[in-house]
Amino acid sequence: MQRERVAENVFYFQSDLYAQVTAGAVIGPNWAVVIDTLAIPEETLQIRDFIEQELNLPVRYVVNTHYHADHAWGNCFFPGATVIGHTLCRKQLATQGQVSLQEARKQNAAFRRIKIVLPHLTFDESYLILRVGKKTLSMFPLPGPCADNIGILVEEDRVLFAGDAFMPLPYIVDGNIDDMVVSLKKIGKMGLENVVPGHGDIVLRGEIDGAVKENQAYLSALRKAVRKAARRKYPMDILAEIGVEECGKSRVLIGGLAVELHRRNLRALYYQLYGEIPKANPGEDDEDFSDDYDGELIS
Ligand SMILES: [Zn+2]
Repeated sequence: MQRERVAENVFYFQSDLYAQVTAGAVIGPNWAVVIDTLAIPEETLQIRDFIEQELNLPVRYVVNTHYHADHAWGNCFFPGATVIGHTLCRKQLATQGQVSLQEARKQNAAFRRIKIVLPHLTFDESYLILRVGKKTLSMFPLPGPCADNIGILVEEDRVLFAGDAFMPLPYIVDGNIDDMVVSLKKIGKMGLENVVPGHGDIVLRGEIDGAVKENQAYLSALRKAVRKAARRKYPMDILAEIGVEECGKSRVLIGGLAVELHRRNLRALYYQLYGEIPKANPGEDDEDFSDDYDGELIS
């Protein structure tokens, strides 16, 4: 796991083991706030050890940017903390999250240590402010990757923990492209020093504008590609040919997962726009892509 200091008393962590997923911590004089919990228990425990052993402070709050496994399943490793999230995050963890955990436990023994802990404190339409020493954490809805995604702004430092509303490759399979566009626009206008994306490297002030535009361009290219495919008899065959690079993004992003995430984006967007699964030529090998629509570990 990588650890980096973003601003005074603000840290960011990035997984070496799973999809470059990130987490954060804001350190106060007497206690700390953790933002997201990473995917693999041993990395979550490294965050806990850093705060509790090295800094010698208890974790009083854990904020979940959204309900996905790699961001919220580590809540159980902070038993003394109050968990904060969107109202929908609580709902999704209680339903989809429990189902996914049962599946994950069958496949990987590491997940047998996990117990889903639902947010104790929730909000939806508006925002929530948490003061940590001299820092003000503003939490607000930032949907797109999923309906429950929130952003956490450290106001004094202009550091935004964006959850999956910001990624090296936008991922909309569990969310909505229009929401994603709105959230990206909002991020671009916030006057930020840093954006901590839900996956990948931190984005610095001078890079934010370009990164927002690049993600917007990718979403436009995605939409164009899906519309083009929809005009054909077998849209799936066309979608299968539209590579991530054709939509302006590199294959190596998110540890090489970009190719697969892009493939799922195309099919999910088709479904979002036309309300049906794209037809494939029955003569070709039929691909099973039911996995595109369920709650897998990513993202
Ligand atoms: Zn994620």
